[in-house]
Amino acid sequence: MSQFSDHNFQNQKALIRVDFNVPLNAEYIITDDNRMRATIPTIKKILVDGGSVILMSHLGRPKDGPTEKYSLKHVVAHLSELLGGVTVKFADDCIGASATELAASLNAGEVLLLENLRFYKEEEKGDADFAQKLSKLGNIYINDAFGTAHRAHASTAVIAQFFAADKKMFGLVMEGEVASAEKVMHKSETPFTAIIGGAKVSDKILIIENLLQRATDIIIGGGMAYTFMKAQGGQIGNSLCENDRLNMANELLKTAASKGVNIHLPSDSIIADAFSATANTSSAPSNSIPDGWMGLDIGENAAEQFSNVIKRSKTILWNGPMGVFEMEKFQHGTKAIAVAVAAATKNGAFSLVGGGDSVAAVNQFGFANQVSYVSTGGGAMLEYFEGKSLPGIDAITQK
Ligand code: AMP
Repeated sequence: MSQFSDHNFQNQKALIRVDFNVPLNAEYIITDDNRMRATIPTIKKILVDGGSVILMSHLGRPKDGPTEKYSLKHVVAHLSELLGGVTVKFADDCIGASATELAASLNAGEVLLLENLRFYKEEEKGDADFAQKLSKLGNIYINDAFGTAHRAHASTAVIAQFFAADKKMFGLVMEGEVASAEKVMHKSETPFTAIIGGAKVSDKILIIENLLQRATDIIIGGGMAYTFMKAQGGQIGNSLCENDRLNMANELLKTAASKGVNIHLPSDSIIADAFSATANTSSAPSNSIPDGWMGLDIGENAAEQFSNVIKRSKTILWNGPMGVFEMEKFQHGTKAIAVAVAAATKNGAFSLVGGGDSVAAVNQFGFANQVSYVSTGGGAMLEYFEGKSLPGIDAITQK
């Protein structure tokens, strides 16, 4: 494996797997271009070195081949703008004659974007022939798509076998993601606090189990906290609860106690009489929520209690919101956590925010540049912290 920053790309044709899976509205306008912006430094470095760039990505989940809605041609103009006016050529097929000819005639300083990889079923199947066809388009392979690193697809993992060890590497996005994830997972300074929130315990069991081996403190908020409350004999009214996970919640608490890991559950909650932005609200201890009411955010005391734990931490991992932060009445807890994570970071802690909704929350509240690292890959980051190996990483790092 080569280091991207050390590499000189002069006269090289770099084939880069990027994550341009951006949301588009009905007029095909990009509504959030963060994933595209993230990879611009990788592309620019190659162009500045005097190389050319061939970009491949998926967009959405096309079912049956080419679909107008999922065509990557919709992102060409915006990509050119993000690159400061560099012309971006477009191949209307990711393999075949047009892609081959356009790639072959690409000059130094030029960029070519290939049509959606998932117009071919072979992409998600990890088909080796398809991967080999893609590999022929460039002479260096770069993976900069952390968002798909947990998939063993043709363009994210299988393709790497067609390049020599010094001709495959991570791009700057992947380098940053892998370095910050490794820092939290393997080089964490203590106290190490993991903040886990979101709707369902069942989605977060594996990550909690794995973090029990590493963290000193685990804060549990969001809808999933009420399964733990009920498991401990609490009354949770109409709050979200996974009744088939009560035993497991108790097991997790027992394991934590035996390992000396502090589990912090919200002592109080903001409760509502309906799951609605206009519901009546009140507050209550999280273990005695009246019938007809549901906990939709952590309460004032819990926010303070959690903030104190966070502020004395040296390593922080945050996955999942503390409440229904999409509604103004229930965003206080998530905001308070963002403030505390920012304060700890200012104090020298390393903080990593990973996983879709907590990333959306720090962006929405304007805290993204006050934490150490905001991950671009939700599912990939989650699997990494579940302790799974990611095919997109292994394909580059293993010989
Ligand atoms: P996840 O994708 O599992 O991280 O869950 C994120 C979602 O959980 C967000 O859409 C939140 O609105 C939702 N959520 C957080 N807290 C609660 C709660 N107390 N009750 C219901 N939903 C919640």
